[in-house]
Amino acid sequence: MSDSMTTAMPIAGHFDPVPVPRNVTAREDGRVDLLGLSRAEIRDTFSAAGLDERQAKLRSKQVFHWIYHRGATDFDGMTDIAKTMRPWLAQRFVIGRPDVVEAQVSTDGTRKWLLKSVDGHEFEMVFIPDADRGTLCVSSQVGCTLNCRFCHTGTMRLVRNLTPGEIVGQVMLARDALGEWPRGNMAVGDMDEESDQAAYTADGRMLTNIVMMGMGEPLYNFDHVRDALKVVMDGDGLALSKRRITLSTSGVVPMMERCGQEIGVNLAVSLHAVTKDIRDEIVPINKKYGIEELLQACADYPGANNARRITFEYVMLKDKNDSDDDARELVRLLKHYRLPAKVNLIPFNPWEGAPYECSTPERIRAFSNIIFEGGISAPVRTPRGRDIDAACGQLKTQATKKSRAERDREAAEAATAA
Ligand code: SAH
Ligand code: SF4
Repeated sequence: MSDSMTTAMPIAGHFDPVPVPRNVTAREDGRVDLLGLSRAEIRDTFSAAGLDERQAKLRSKQVFHWIYHRGATDFDGMTDIAKTMRPWLAQRFVIGRPDVVEAQVSTDGTRKWLLKSVDGHEFEMVFIPDADRGTLCVSSQVGCTLNCRFCHTGTMRLVRNLTPGEIVGQVMLARDALGEWPRGNMAVGDMDEESDQAAYTADGRMLTNIVMMGMGEPLYNFDHVRDALKVVMDGDGLALSKRRITLSTSGVVPMMERCGQEIGVNLAVSLHAVTKDIRDEIVPINKKYGIEELLQACADYPGANNARRITFEYVMLKDKNDSDDDARELVRLLKHYRLPAKVNLIPFNPWEGAPYECSTPERIRAFSNIIFEGGISAPVRTPRGRDIDAACGQLKTQATKKSRAERDREAAEAATAA
């Protein structure tokens, strides 16, 4: 499939994503923010600013390493770059971060940041520490067009797609906040690269995993999410393995194959229901890409196998999708499509005005047992950060509320757009 696919793809919902600032955009003071750029983009930006080819290549390699491996935010400390060159860089470039509007910590240790883009849009990221890992939940859009009925983010208008810099910026900020940049002398280029690599270790890190499960539908912002995750996975920078990154989609079937091929991360699918009626109601994109089509795309997902299973997310809604029959049908479907699957049962996280309630703990346990008996793992996700509205589906920023009527209209339009 070609790159033009993304722009040609019809977007469900009333609001098409509004144009996004280009990757390489000068700030008001004329300086260009390098955050989120790949090594090649940094090189081209340096060439355009007047460096010859050899210099642009060498400097981009060094600067890339300083930005993503060391967390540098200015050029002063880039010790392997000639002293005279550093002011030249500082006059033309910056290494930015999203602005932090508010940082909150839950009683269970979960942390949530409200962030703001340069043009004033707010979005959120969440860090969930566990005994053996730390997971950063990253947003891909400001708002979401998809209106899943149980999701607070779905009550927001889509304001715009986040840029690669804003997506990578969340990871960089989390690293800043957790104090996780390596110390010591690890410059590249003029320095000894071999010993540099050896000195660096990921052991003992708090941030070990990334999930694209914040605000927005990542596959409706495919190019930017892909470019951002490529930077995050680059071995010379943040160097997070694709096995530690999971992308969650509500079921944007036409983009799933490219997700596997071009990004290669673990896939999570927001299934949430096993019949057309119920899934149409709670995940309206189902009217466009139905359950069969979705499960077939999962069966075809590049790189999925028994060692790398696809996660099926299933929100537990009282008397809506939580019966024994639903559980049995879920097992049947996953087996029918021979899916290397695990099921993640998510107790519904309430928000004000939500039209659903969470299933009882007994019901959730019974549901989980049926799936386990079918030979498929089905742990129940412990809600984290509920007290600061940081749990799944609770993310929402204030500025951009949709009315119920607007949401209903968008859901209807998503259906007819098919
Ligand atoms: N847009 C993507 C990723 C973000 S949502 C998607 O839909 O997959 C991350 C997960 O939280 C999804 O499985 C979503 O369905 C679930 N979720 C949304 N609202 C929720 C709520 N109120 N309670 C529990 N889970 C919710
Ligand atoms: Fe959007 Fe995902 Fe929420 Fe659905 S569950 S409205 S796709 S963020």
